[in-house]
Amino acid sequence: MICPMCNSKLKKGKIKEEYLGHDLGIFDGFTCTKCGETLLTEESVKKAQQKAKELGILGLAEKTTISKSGNSLMVRIKKNVAEYLGLTEGEKVIIHPEGKKKLVVEVI
Ligand SMILES: [Zn+2]
Repeated sequence: MICPMCNSKLKKGKIKEEYLGHDLGIFDGFTCTKCGETLLTEESVKKAQQKAKELGILGLAEKTTISKSGNSLMVRIKKNVAEYLGLTEGEKVIIHPEGKKKLVVEVI
């Protein structure tokens, strides 16, 4: 097999998979000998998804659109994410950028 990122050779091995800060376990997969990119086998992807489902975190990462309210921009937090975080209307959170590509909302 060939790495989809750099076209180098992939080496068979065990891959520790994490999703949204949760440890999903160790799965069969491939690691690129050059860039370190990892790929899970089809079977492992299913197992990892099943584990994420069991943890209730499958589908929590989604694309959302920024909307506008007055001079402020708003980020909509979907119901499943709010429930996962235990967030309700009127609650205070801390919001801050983490570099130029990430916005963190901290539940306090
Ligand atoms: Zn590679």
